[in-house]
Amino acid sequence: MHPINAYAAEKAKAPLKSFVIQRREPGPHDVVIEILYCGVCHSDVHQARDEWSNGTFPMVPGHEIVGKVTSVGSSVTQHKVGDSVGVGCFVDSCRVCQPCKSHLQQYCEKGMNLTYNGVEKDAKTPTYGGYSTEIVVDENYVLRIPSNLPLDKAAPLLCAGITTYSPLRQWKIKTGDKVAVVGLGGLGHMAVKLAAAMGAEVTVLSTSNKKKDDAMRFGAKNFLNTSDESVFTNHANYFDFMINTAAGNIDLGKYLSMIKLDGTMVCVGVPESPGSLNASALIMKRRSIAGSLIGGLKETQEMLDFCSAHNITSDIELIPVEKINEAYDRMVKGDVRYRFVIDINSLRK
Ligand code: NAP
Ligand code: ZN
Ligand code: ZN
Repeated sequence: MHPINAYAAEKAKAPLKSFVIQRREPGPHDVVIEILYCGVCHSDVHQARDEWSNGTFPMVPGHEIVGKVTSVGSSVTQHKVGDSVGVGCFVDSCRVCQPCKSHLQQYCEKGMNLTYNGVEKDAKTPTYGGYSTEIVVDENYVLRIPSNLPLDKAAPLLCAGITTYSPLRQWKIKTGDKVAVVGLGGLGHMAVKLAAAMGAEVTVLSTSNKKKDDAMRFGAKNFLNTSDESVFTNHANYFDFMINTAAGNIDLGKYLSMIKLDGTMVCVGVPESPGSLNASALIMKRRSIAGSLIGGLKETQEMLDFCSAHNITSDIELIPVEKINEAYDRMVKGDVRYRFVIDINSLRK
């Protein structure tokens, strides 16, 4: 065990500041990763501020981790020293339940071991995330970053990328499908790029006109400013599929009215408080509403390889760790273009 520089919220809502953690001694199946970049997900904000009421503190957030392998345990076969690798939202799971056996570790019946705000396999040692200089992870939970992807811009793929890729695949989005993306933030901008690469006709539903040019650059065909009420009637029954990435509550019934017969809205955003829905918004056009949680390891690797083939990465603002509290505040205001990524070298002082 040796001390590792990190940044932590010492208690709920406290600003993040410098903090020292210990990592476990690597075992035979472990990979030691020198962290180079870590993306900043809105879930980091929700959890550091305990908006989901499940926070354990001190908390070192960060689950969009990329770096280089610096050493491997004696039994490791999938990674070697010098490899570019990534770690997403979980670092282990039970491995024996049906979801785990079906490559759906995120739905592990025992509960996945979250990268932070969780516990290690011993069920008691707290896990600490990627706002830190080093992490030790079992090789089976480490992803390969394809060599053509720049590491800083690839970091957000580990959460924002897979969280939007997985439902697009699950609902079999294909050429010509009319896909709506609600909210153009970290997840939303990845949803636009991925759905466009799958051939969909993508429309962004955003709360202002500010992000219109960017949306079109990411591959959207249409952009609708939802502060203009007429967009809901003008596009009634229009979309095959809608992915809701909003970090706050939206009027679900109004957005559902834009979905056609048998279409689906998949919610991936997790607002602090529950929303409400009148069943008639579903009944009248046999619409569905569903949810989706990140993605399994196999699908995450598939997503990284898809991004490699289509040259897709995140649009980022690279920040030193000292700017993290400011970044959180900007994110809450929707002022993010389109993912903050921490340059972890700023923690190596
Ligand atoms: P983000 O970068 O802050 O983007 C969220 C965007 O949603 C904002 O930029 C804004 O876009 C829009 N928005 C925010 N509040 C809104 C409101 N009240 N009404 C309408 N639109 C609103 O956040 P993110 O990192 O993409 O995360 C989005 C949500 O997904 C968070 O709740 C996060 O915790 C959750 N999440 C879920 C999973 C999962 O597995 N399901 C994984 C990761 C994150 P416009 O400016 O375009 O309106
Ligand atoms: Zn996330
Ligand atoms: Zn399991």
